[in-house]
Amino acid sequence: MKKSLLWIVVTAVLLSGQWARADDEATDALFQYSTINALLDGLYDGDLTIKQLSSFGDIGLGTVNGVDGELIALDGEYYHVKADGRAYPLTPERETPFAVVKHFTTDHSEPLPANLDYPALQQHLDKGIKTPNFFQAIRIDGTFASLKVRSIPKQSKPYRPLAEVVQDDQVTFDYENAKGSLIGFRTPEYMKGLNVPGYHFHFLSEDRQYGGHVLALVTAEGAIRFDEAADFHMALPEVEAFAELDLGASRNKELDKVEKGQ
Ligand code: ZN
Repeated sequence: MKKSLLWIVVTAVLLSGQWARADDEATDALFQYSTINALLDGLYDGDLTIKQLSSFGDIGLGTVNGVDGELIALDGEYYHVKADGRAYPLTPERETPFAVVKHFTTDHSEPLPANLDYPALQQHLDKGIKTPNFFQAIRIDGTFASLKVRSIPKQSKPYRPLAEVVQDDQVTFDYENAKGSLIGFRTPEYMKGLNVPGYHFHFLSEDRQYGGHVLALVTAEGAIRFDEAADFHMALPEVEAFAELDLGASRNKELDKVEKGQ
């Protein structure tokens, strides 16, 4: 890496011999850049390039510097969905202020049931997870009878807090019979402040033309793939604005606004 990054490595200790640890921990780790509270607080310019980010994962989500839309990575290809709702390939030199990625390997898969709305899908996914205390990367390829996604237009300085930006500037798009992939993560509750507790999904259409941060959906058909991770790597932005943030405060209400778009 060009810049030295501050690393925090959290390694969950397996108390039971029943669950085999992945052979190659370095490639089975969830990688996160910056913290969700930093993003909520308006830290919109990071110093990690898409090229650097992509070395840590082939699937993932986040945003681009200036909150220039919604980032989504799928099969090693990185896109951002701009405020026009369209997906654009990201060039390697672009930088991100917040992203979560993983090298995806399927631990188990199952069919996607039909007629589930977003809360029902999340309840269904809970049943496919053996513990809420590990990280899960989740990939769902299929058709969605309906899909509501959002994006955010690129912000200019002075930056406002993200909850304000979402409330004032968020652009939403509704699709019917949307074919494509949901890429996302289930993050343990104890990660509050660092990441989004629970589920967080971004969508990219099969033709790679549109997508966004998922607000609502109804499933039709497809397949769910789970990839569990018991290793977590976090890198923090080495920028002045990050050093000056007060990151200890609880931002649960703001996070709800930002994630659910309401
Ligand atoms: Zn998102």
